[in-house]
Amino acid sequence: MAATRNVMRAVRVFEFGGPEVLKLQSDVLIPSPKENQVLIKVHACGVNPVETYIRAGRYARKPALPYTPGSDVAGVVESVGEHVTAFKKGDRVFTDDTISGGYADYAVAAANRVFPLSEKLDFRQGAAVGIPYFTAYRALFQKGRAKAGESVLVHGASGGVGIATCQIARACGLKVLGTAGTAEGMNTVLRNGAHQVFNHRDANYVDKIKEYVGTEGVNIIIEMLSNVNLATDLQLLAPAGRVMVVGCRGPVEINPRDTMSKESSIIGVSLFLATEEERQECAAAVLDGVEAGWLKPIVGSEYPLEKVVQAHEDIIHCSGARGKMVLLP
Ligand code: NAP
Repeated sequence: MAATRNVMRAVRVFEFGGPEVLKLQSDVLIPSPKENQVLIKVHACGVNPVETYIRAGRYARKPALPYTPGSDVAGVVESVGEHVTAFKKGDRVFTDDTISGGYADYAVAAANRVFPLSEKLDFRQGAAVGIPYFTAYRALFQKGRAKAGESVLVHGASGGVGIATCQIARACGLKVLGTAGTAEGMNTVLRNGAHQVFNHRDANYVDKIKEYVGTEGVNIIIEMLSNVNLATDLQLLAPAGRVMVVGCRGPVEINPRDTMSKESSIIGVSLFLATEEERQECAAAVLDGVEAGWLKPIVGSEYPLEKVVQAHEDIIHCSGARGKMVLLP
């Protein structure tokens, strides 16, 4: 009996490949938190596109096999390591990074990557905070140097990072333009801070954006699909404008001359490279937004852990994001 209480369900990956390599197992040992770690009973786990690239073995960072995917966990503290004083059993928390993997009933995380989850947010919303909002803040401010009064085009605004970017940018006084691929996605973008929205599946939507911004152009573009949009983005920028490369799924051809006429910048963003200090800055901004009430994560599609294969199919192939995708153990 004791042995069965020490095991949990977890998704395991034994070889890199298609979504079918995600195997839900019910006899995985519950991890024990080491001295500076927290064991979280997972109530929801966000699904991030990067988890599909890693699973496929096509990402620069590859975990040792076998592993359990998943970073954005929200849940309740089950136990803490001996040096942890910031959290105790029963606390509601979220994290942007787990050590043991979040697609599971329990996950261990380093205590400095765990944050309190406000009563204002449910667990599904908590699972939509970490990577999306930290990335949005990093792209806008730590790397993009956004200022109140500037304009931002969130190119791909209907997903996890896009909605986070719209909410943060609007709360910080920027003029916010967004794009989505469906009417429902466009409405979600408008309800979450965008002043104007365009459909990136419309043949002439770039002309519509140009018409809207006029000769001034936009100061910052937060780009979710650089391999498709980078060349176009350079046409939409204001003088000294910045394209922030957040998402990219392949190569693209651009004319570097297009950066000269306006002294434009193309800047890569990687949350993974944030220092501890930068990450704490992201967390401070995000926790403040939750308390102030303007930061409200939008949860899109929800999948039980048993449907993890479908979730990985859909996050790449389904058009029509309307918030963050989450897994529910
Ligand atoms: P997501 O929730 O799956 O959203 C994807 C977004 O891309 C949706 O808004 C989708 O819009 C949009 N999109 C689809 N076709 C597009 C097009 N032609 N032009 C512009 N946008 C288009 O994913 P996410 O979590 O928001 O992540 C977005 C990207 O950022 C992913 O590539 C992810 O890997 C990356 N990312 C990078 C970092 C980093 O540190 N650099 C961190 C987190 C995420 P519709 O579905 O409405 O068409």
